[in-house]
Amino acid sequence: MGSQKIRRLLVANRGEIAIRIFRAATELGIRTVAIYSEQDSVSIHRFKADESYLVGAGKGPIEAYLDIESIIEVAKRNDIDAIHPGYGFLAENAEFARRCEEAGIIFIGPSPELIERFGDKVEARNLAVAAGIPVIPGTPEPIESLQEAMLFAKEHGYPIIIKGVAGGGGRGMRIVRSQDELQEALERARSEARSSFGNAKVYLERYLEKPKHIEVQIIGDQHGNIVHLFERDCSVQRRHQKVVEVAPSLALDEALREQICQSALTLMKRVGYSNAGTVEFLLTPDQRFYFIEVNPRIQVEHTITELITGIDIVQAQIKIAEGYALSDPEIGIPPQEQIKMNGYAIQCRVTTEDPENGFVPDAGRLLAWRSGGGFGVRLDGGNGYPGAIITPYYDSLLVKISTYANTFEHAARKMLRTLREFRIRGVKTNLPFLENVVTHPDFLSGQYDTSFIDTKPELFI
Ligand code: ADP
Repeated sequence: MGSQKIRRLLVANRGEIAIRIFRAATELGIRTVAIYSEQDSVSIHRFKADESYLVGAGKGPIEAYLDIESIIEVAKRNDIDAIHPGYGFLAENAEFARRCEEAGIIFIGPSPELIERFGDKVEARNLAVAAGIPVIPGTPEPIESLQEAMLFAKEHGYPIIIKGVAGGGGRGMRIVRSQDELQEALERARSEARSSFGNAKVYLERYLEKPKHIEVQIIGDQHGNIVHLFERDCSVQRRHQKVVEVAPSLALDEALREQICQSALTLMKRVGYSNAGTVEFLLTPDQRFYFIEVNPRIQVEHTITELITGIDIVQAQIKIAEGYALSDPEIGIPPQEQIKMNGYAIQCRVTTEDPENGFVPDAGRLLAWRSGGGFGVRLDGGNGYPGAIITPYYDSLLVKISTYANTFEHAARKMLRTLREFRIRGVKTNLPFLENVVTHPDFLSGQYDTSFIDTKPELFI
C-alpha cells in the first residue's frame, strides 16, 4: 500500500518531459500543475496541465526554472503534494530535493543524499569501485595541478580525457592526445566546468577509443526492492550527447547483458537506491565494460525501455514516491526473473538544429507542422504545431520519435517511414540527418560506436 497519497503534482520543468509527466499523472487521477517562465507564457506545456503558474518573475528564461524559492513558494501556495523535476534544470539539485522535503512536499526521485553523491562524478566512481564494478582507470580525486595530470598520463599513457566533477550533458570534456596539449586543455576544461556547472573541479580518465555507450535502467521502491529493466545503447552521439538510442543493444549477448545489468544492480542495491535511475557504462571493442556515471533521474531516452518492457517508468516513479512496493498491482513490476523484454525500440531526437550549418539551433515560427504516426510509433513532444513559436532560450528538442517492432530492422524501417512523414517548415531541423543515420549500414548491423557520427561524413549529406 501507498502511505502518502499524491493528489496535486507540480512538474518543475517544461517542454516534452513536462507533458510526458502530466500524461502519466492524469492517468493516475492526479491533478497536474505546470510552472512557466515569462518567456514561456505561450509554451504548450502550460496548457497541457490542469493549472499553471508563473515562476521567476523578472528573471531570465533558464533562471526561472532554477528559481528554487519561487517554485517552492508556488507549490506551497497551491497545495502541492509532490514535485517531479523531470531531467535537466533542478533534477539533480540536492538542495532543491531537500527544500521540497522541508516544505512537506514529496520530491519524486532518489534521496537528496544520493543525488549529492552521484552528482560528484569522482565520488560516483569511488562508489562503483567499492561495489566491485570495473571503472576506467582514473584519478581517485579531483586533480589540482598540471603535475598531477602529467603523473597520471605517465602512468596510464595517452589519450586521456578531462572531465568536470560536476559535469553533465557531455559538456566540459576534453580529450588530450599528447603532453603538449595538456596544460591548455586543463585550463580550458576548468574554466568551462566553472562556467557551465559552477564548479571548476576536474578529474582524469583514460580515454577509451571507439567504445559503445551502454546504460542500464534501474528502478527501486522504498522497501528495498530493486530491479533493472535491461539496457539501452546510446552510442550514436554528437559531441558526447546522445542523438539516437536503441533498446536492447545489438552488441550484447545474453551472458554479457546479464553481467552488465547485474553490475548496475549491485551498485544501486548497495547504495540503497530508490526511484528511477540509470547506470552508464562504456563497452570496449574487446567486450569489456566500465562504469562511467549514474544519472539519478528520469532520462530523455526512457521511452524505449518502456516500449520493450511495457512498464510506464514515470507512473512507477510516482507510485514509488507514494510508498507502493514494485510488486503492488498499482505498479505491477514483477520480480526480476519475470521481467521480460520484447522486440526492439529506437528513439530519434528531432531537434531544431541545422545539420548543414554546424548544428546551430534555429528558432522562429513553425509555418507548417505535419507529424508522422501510425502503428508502433510513439511521439513525445509538445511545442510542435502550426504557428508555434520556437524560442532560442531552451534546448532544441522538438519531438522524440520512438518506434517499436518485433525486429530491429523493422523498428528502423518504421523510423525511416515516420521521419519521412514529418513536414516541418519555418525552422531547420535535423530530420534529413536522422534519416541518414537510420539507413546507414553500420547502424543497421549494430556495428557502431561513439565515434560513428564523427567518422561518417556521408551522414551530413
Ligand atoms: P556527461 O555526464 O557529460 O554526459 P559522461 O561521463 O556520461 O558525461 O560521458 C558522456 C560521453 O562521453 C560518453 O557516452 C562517451 O561517449 C564519452 N566518454 C566519457 N568518458 C569517456 C572515456 N573515458 N573514454 C571515452 N569516451 C568517454
